[in-house]
Amino acid sequence: MSGDAGEGLLLDAAAVDGWAAAADVVIVGFGMAGACAAIEARAAGASVIVIERTSGCTGSTSAAAGHFYLGGGTAVQQACGFEDSADEMARYLEAVALDPDHEKIRLYADGSVAHFDWLEAQGVPFDRSYYPQKNVVQPGRECLIWTGNEQVWPYREQAKPAPRGHKVAFDGEEGGGALALRLLSERAEAAGATIMADTKVEALVRDGGRIVGVKVRRFGETSFVRAGKAVVLAAGGFGQNAEMVAEHVPILASAYVQGSPHDDGLGIRLGEAAGGVAIHMDEPFLTSPFYPPEDLLKGVLVNRDGARFVAEDSYHSRSGIFSARQPDGIVYLIVDAAIFAYPHFASLTNQSLIDGFETIAEMETGLGLPAGSLQRTMADYNAHAAKGEDPAFHKYPKWLKPLEEGPFAAFDLSFGRAVYTGFTLGGLKVSADGVVLDAAGAAVPGLYAAGACASNIAQDSNGYASGTCLGEASFFGRRAGRHAATLV
Ligand SMILES: Cc1cc2nc3c(=O)[nH]c(=O)nc-3n(C[C@H](O)[C@H](O)[C@H](O)COP(=O)(O)OP(=O)(O)OC[C@H]3O[C@@H](n4cnc5c(N)ncnc54)[C@H](O)[C@@H]3O)c2cc1C
Repeated sequence: MSGDAGEGLLLDAAAVDGWAAAADVVIVGFGMAGACAAIEARAAGASVIVIERTSGCTGSTSAAAGHFYLGGGTAVQQACGFEDSADEMARYLEAVALDPDHEKIRLYADGSVAHFDWLEAQGVPFDRSYYPQKNVVQPGRECLIWTGNEQVWPYREQAKPAPRGHKVAFDGEEGGGALALRLLSERAEAAGATIMADTKVEALVRDGGRIVGVKVRRFGETSFVRAGKAVVLAAGGFGQNAEMVAEHVPILASAYVQGSPHDDGLGIRLGEAAGGVAIHMDEPFLTSPFYPPEDLLKGVLVNRDGARFVAEDSYHSRSGIFSARQPDGIVYLIVDAAIFAYPHFASLTNQSLIDGFETIAEMETGLGLPAGSLQRTMADYNAHAAKGEDPAFHKYPKWLKPLEEGPFAAFDLSFGRAVYTGFTLGGLKVSADGVVLDAAGAAVPGLYAAGACASNIAQDSNGYASGTCLGEASFFGRRAGRHAATLV
């Protein structure tokens, strides 16, 4: 989708009959990216108006667990005894990225420690503690956790692994993002940013080649807000726009799309109307976590051909996207009696148990897999696992054990039957300072974007690590706010 396409998303300044309000920097959306942009634009001396269509901070940030992907030797990593460096963090992000943006990765890795310190200085709390288990979100206040593929082959050979998921100190699996956003939004207001709540931005205003303001609607009344220097789009993703999902990431139409109900893609469409381009729009975050309990990682994933296809110890959105893209979406998780007997297996809520089988041969028939396929896969897996090896997918030795003692159980991870959740990752192409870029890579004057409506570090489900979205929304949101404030 490009250009205004008759949607009225771009107006000429000549059509504006008066400005109801004005500031140097006008920010669209008060989520993680908008709040951080506002704080930094104020710190740089600009006047700021943040326009938020809801009554408060209710974007996807409020739904987030509260992981920030940070490293390079943060205070928490040091306190917990983990060595990390900006170089290793950059190496990892380069290795795992779909389409690495070298400049942004370098800036993000080099600036990660200072960014962590900045978040703490704004009042966002992080415990000095480590959560050692493989989990999607740690249930308590513990901070540091492995949230990516750092220990997964081949990445563990390309960069020295370190845990980089930093969870906001919050008891519970949901609420860390909301806590961080409440604190940051209070900071933005205390710093002097004006918040216009219950106000929806409907169009950008352009004067000559430059974006100079926005058209807004509040309780049925239309007015215009002037931006003396720039407009920063921080309006979230497009997961709730069925048309855009069908056009770009149809796989999400069969999943439960999480996030803000206002993820309607308007931020992206506004940017496109002004001449910007969107990238990586066809890559979702998609997952069906089958851990915790972490013992289930010792199981084996097979497709409809009875063949393995991914290292089972991958971060859950990596195994999730590999699973969803298997032929017919058919995937089974196979475990033995010992794993099945693990006390907390009942916590597996995304996938249902198909059945138990006395032998692998019976399971093969029961699941309708090609004759001999599963038996061959398991015999091969078991022979190597007994030696602590996995030449096919290089699963980390900690998760390797022969699965030989029946009865065996199969869980259904098939796409369309198991619960898959996701959100969009694509967004406007922006410079490292958040400037919206056109197809030729030139700046759209006066227009910035950050957070889920822009594309920065998080690009696809394979390379995603929990914490990348909040990490980049805050990091590049700050850069956008700062840069916009210094425009002349
Ligand atoms: C369940 C869940 C858990 C997650 N957990 C994590 C996690 O732990 N770590 C992580 O890194 N990522 C996580 N994510 C992803 C992350 O939450 C988002 O990518 C991130 O919060 C996006 O921040 P944002 O500021 O770009 O957008 P948002 O937080 O969505 O903010 C955008 C704001 O813009 C407003 N808005 C939209 N359109 C307009 C308009 N036209 N006019 C005015 N205002 C508008 C919206 O109301 C909203 O308040 C999670 C996502 C979900 C759904």
